[in-house]
Amino acid sequence: MNKEYRGVWVFAEQRDGHLQKVSLELIGKGREIADKLGEKLTAVLLGYEVQNLTNSLISHGADEVILVDNVLLKNYTTDAYAKVLCDLINERKPEIMFIGASYIGRDLGPRVAGRLKTGLTADCTSLDIDQETGNLLMTRPAFGGNLMATIECPDHRPQMSTVRPGVFNVPCADEKRTGKVEVVATDLKEEEIRTKVEKIVKSLKDKIDITEAEVIVSGGRGVGNKEGFALIKELAEILGGVVGASRAAVDSGWVEKDYQVGQTGKTVRPKLYIACGISGAIQHLAGMQESDYIIAINKDDSAPIMSVADLAVVGDLYKVIPEMIKEIKAQKF
Ligand code: FAD
Repeated sequence: MNKEYRGVWVFAEQRDGHLQKVSLELIGKGREIADKLGEKLTAVLLGYEVQNLTNSLISHGADEVILVDNVLLKNYTTDAYAKVLCDLINERKPEIMFIGASYIGRDLGPRVAGRLKTGLTADCTSLDIDQETGNLLMTRPAFGGNLMATIECPDHRPQMSTVRPGVFNVPCADEKRTGKVEVVATDLKEEEIRTKVEKIVKSLKDKIDITEAEVIVSGGRGVGNKEGFALIKELAEILGGVVGASRAAVDSGWVEKDYQVGQTGKTVRPKLYIACGISGAIQHLAGMQESDYIIAINKDDSAPIMSVADLAVVGDLYKVIPEMIKEIKAQKF
């Protein structure tokens, strides 16, 4: 393969001057892949007045940061970000490009891959290097999640993939790490951007991102009805967490799809995951079993969730949860 292309790049997504967690997860995985190839790991940061984020990218594992800081990049637009990223890739030729599969990444990745006439594997859940060929192995669920497909892009460069948030760990920061920050100018012009961002209105949906939550209280079919989710929400709120759900609860129309945990929902890794009335089907476990501490509340002591739980509570959730809420309130006040 063309050895003109070298190095591993991660698109460091920021919003409102805050790095998205998935970008740090990708820095961690990118570091591992770059080490396997004996190459450098570069974070590409686009935005306006975001220089302060470069330290975090380096302390989490990047060797260098390419920073394009321009007022036209303040808010994400497909035209501006795709142009700047394509220009950088055409000029510097990275071998691999990782982008988080966020709403922004899912828009940007295909646009950039299309322009560069290379391949992109969307929504990956695992990444590795083929020992023999040195090609990137990109794994993702296929055929509705019924099998896992490992995809290679042997003939085109860069090899690109978008990666699901929450799949990889955020590496520990090492404040002593040093790296290079290169500020690169862009010739981007306002007239090249066909969309104008007038105002950003945050919906409640945008504010609650279950992949970023430290505590998730999830409800399943065992909750029984939509109204029952008020109890799940009350427990979540008192613990400073958010609500999650199994697919059965989402399919029943009790909770929106954004809150679904699992293979066809979100992959989460909170400090505490409480599964209420969820049996623990393999597709649900795939999205939450890496949580630090799992509590399961289920009437059936043989439900599969009970064997992955650190604490398995056998009982009716409508009796157990009110007791928990009472107890937590008593501890707090
Ligand atoms: P059930 O399996 O019906 O379990 C309900 C549980 O509640 C039972 O264990 C029961 O004992 C308990 N219970 C009942 N009443 C009470 C009570 N009062 N108190 C305490 N416990 C009680 N599922 C996902 O969750 N996420 C996914 O992303 C996902 N993707 C899928 C992709 C594919 C391709 C396929 C085929 C399936 C997928 N599924 C997914 C569906 C999955 O297979 C299960 O059907 C689903 O997870 C079951 O949800 P549940 O555990 O809420 O319901």
